[in-house]
Amino acid sequence: MASDPTASSFYQTVNAYFDRAAALTDYPAGLLEQIKVCNAVYAVQFPLRRQDGSIEVIAGWRVQHSHHRLPVKGGIRYAPEVNEDEVKALAALMTYKCAIVDVPFGGAKGGVRIDTKKYTTQELEQITRRYTAELIKKNFIGPGVDVPAPDYGTGPREMAWIYDTYSAFNPGAIDAMACVTGKPVTQGGIRGRVEATGRGVYYGLREACAQREDLAPLGLTPGLEGKRVVVQGLGNVGYHSAKFCQEAGCVIVALSERDGAVYNPAGLDVDAVVRHQRETGSIRDFPGAKTIVPTNLALELPCDILIPAALENQITAENAPRIQARIVAEAANGPTTAAAERILRERGVLIIPDVYLNAGGVTVSYFEWVKNLSHVRFGRVGKRFEESAFDRLLSAVERATGRAFPEAERRRIVRGPDEIDLVNSGLEETMITAYHQIRECWKRDPRVPDLRTAAFLVALRKVATTYLELGIFP
Ligand code: GLU
Repeated sequence: MASDPTASSFYQTVNAYFDRAAALTDYPAGLLEQIKVCNAVYAVQFPLRRQDGSIEVIAGWRVQHSHHRLPVKGGIRYAPEVNEDEVKALAALMTYKCAIVDVPFGGAKGGVRIDTKKYTTQELEQITRRYTAELIKKNFIGPGVDVPAPDYGTGPREMAWIYDTYSAFNPGAIDAMACVTGKPVTQGGIRGRVEATGRGVYYGLREACAQREDLAPLGLTPGLEGKRVVVQGLGNVGYHSAKFCQEAGCVIVALSERDGAVYNPAGLDVDAVVRHQRETGSIRDFPGAKTIVPTNLALELPCDILIPAALENQITAENAPRIQARIVAEAANGPTTAAAERILRERGVLIIPDVYLNAGGVTVSYFEWVKNLSHVRFGRVGKRFEESAFDRLLSAVERATGRAFPEAERRRIVRGPDEIDLVNSGLEETMITAYHQIRECWKRDPRVPDLRTAAFLVALRKVATTYLELGIFP
């Protein structure tokens, strides 16, 4: 990562974004302070007996940023760089993110400082179960209290361990399944959660790129078709963002991973690159593409849209002047430093901010939580009823017109929604509605310089309204 001499901590950066939006409001200072601070910070250290018999002390955190709504919600990250400042920043982002997409949760985040590659599956299970037990001890997990989810370095497998540990400590708790989201579908998960963040990135980007008057100053035509895209990070979010963009007609010119990037101006097939990575152990030397090392040079390649989908602080004051993209679509949390943001804004680059763009994950987590609490799969109750209603309607049309629908068309029209259809439609609706809310805030108020400030302002107003309606503040 390029060093940034003007860099402040990640949490300071998030707070600076908050302050910039807060300055545009006339809420009492105390209320603004209450919204900004982390309400509860839990740091824990616990021992792990490694398979070679040695003992290692593992550090973990859970930060609950805002209790204005409960439960609080946010992923758990496993990475060697995890620290308290980072978890606080990510927890704060979760509060604003949930508010922007009207997910009725406060924000939280967890982190465990480990390099997952250095542990066996059994050790990772031990770490996850012990971390969960530590959360249980302090009432930092539960369907109505705090509901974790996957983040960098964790996935459905870890969520299943968390759920299993929680239910073992809470026998008979009927809503135990809602203590964590992002579970495997067989363990109470919801279809579409794995790809939700990437799908949300695609919906958000599509909406942004549909605004002719916003794209014209960037020298771009509306629509995703033919846009040249660079994606940094091929984890869950990067892979799915790249895949949905490719399906929508974007030309994926470069994909980057930790150990290198591959570049082909004529376009890469995302699945073929992933296959190559799986077979050879690296993304490098993908046939027909140029290998780029060091990997961060990929950010500076010629393209229309840059999608950072890895970790924070990737676009810095150092490399920002060389970024060629006209749109930066923040799929990761905090990929752009504040100093880099200033440079990009001066250069007329449109930044679609993380707090909005990667909210698809928590949106579908919310659907999963609702599913778990209602104990019924979306679509199960109404599907057949809707099918027969459409069937009756088509039959009436046929009788009135004297013409029969071809069988395939009839089947397509009468099909009732399955869980995945409802999840995707709810996600699409959420991302479109939220985009227009923040865009309007940006366009209407000349004091709002960009989409990020607009997103924070929208979020701040929603959280403030909740506090004011609680009657805590005069
Ligand atoms: N870790 C994801 C995020 O940063 C998802 C959180 C969730 O689903 O609760 O938004």
